[in-house]
Amino acid sequence: MRVRPLPLAVLGLVCMSVAPTHARAYCRLTTSMPVAGSACASSGTPLVWKRQCISYSVVPRARNSPTLGEIRSVVDRSFQTWGDVTCGGAVLPLALAQTGELSLCDKPEYNETAANVNSIIFVSDWRERALPPTAFGLTMVWHDSRSGEIVDADMQINETLGTLAVCGKRCAPGQIDMQNIVTHEAGHFLGLGHSALSNACMFGQAQVGETSKRYLSRDDEAGICAAYGGRSQPNCTVQDYVPDNGFASSCNQLPPQSSCGCSTPGAPQPATSGMYWLGSALALAGLWRRRKRAARVARITDR
Ligand SMILES: [Zn+2]
Repeated sequence: MRVRPLPLAVLGLVCMSVAPTHARAYCRLTTSMPVAGSACASSGTPLVWKRQCISYSVVPRARNSPTLGEIRSVVDRSFQTWGDVTCGGAVLPLALAQTGELSLCDKPEYNETAANVNSIIFVSDWRERALPPTAFGLTMVWHDSRSGEIVDADMQINETLGTLAVCGKRCAPGQIDMQNIVTHEAGHFLGLGHSALSNACMFGQAQVGETSKRYLSRDDEAGICAAYGGRSQPNCTVQDYVPDNGFASSCNQLPPQSSCGCSTPGAPQPATSGMYWLGSALALAGLWRRRKRAARVARITDR
């Protein structure tokens, strides 16, 4: 497998200009999507998760407002918004779940030969990391460059464009609604690009204080159904959610013998110490935090 990351700078402008008025359908990411581009690629293989049991893990922030519990709930609600979509009368055949264990890996990475975690990262040193300065978020979608299979995704949320908050119906001045950003980023996480429709969640621009991207338009729903509709419903066990090569809460959890120069292009080199496996599927038993509708696990579908 040849894996490469697709970085998606998202919600690029703090001040939204005049929105396009022409209608255009959703956009799916493909293997030929220009790096950091927002135009919809017309070639390449669409990116899609083949696995149907997908986990994500929150990295705790240094700031304690909103609380970690509030953040975890917001992240769940954001993914749930996509999971609630029905395609042809059937609920989206993906099971999306947050791990009970937090991620401690605050940088995007995919380890082809070691354990992984799909991290939700809140970045307070956005500029120092040389990330796009006006982006509210950036999601890295790691995929097989031939088949388009998504194997890992890491979401970075910009803490520097305003006060990240869990807004009510409206935000206070200067607040950035976390759910507005994470719902949009979750669309990228699942393989969608930007829509040209200004009322779509996947529209590529936003404003401080905006909350409209908490909700999906029909265009967003059509996009996610094009990617995943028609599959049978998954019946996920805890082990099925474990990322490739196992779950690692920390970065670079490589086996000692793997400290060669063979890491994924673009991924950090292995650390020189503290490398060990954590990734046994069974090690996660009991640590998983099921979603509110976890009862559906027993009924084949999890959310
Ligand atoms: Zn975006």
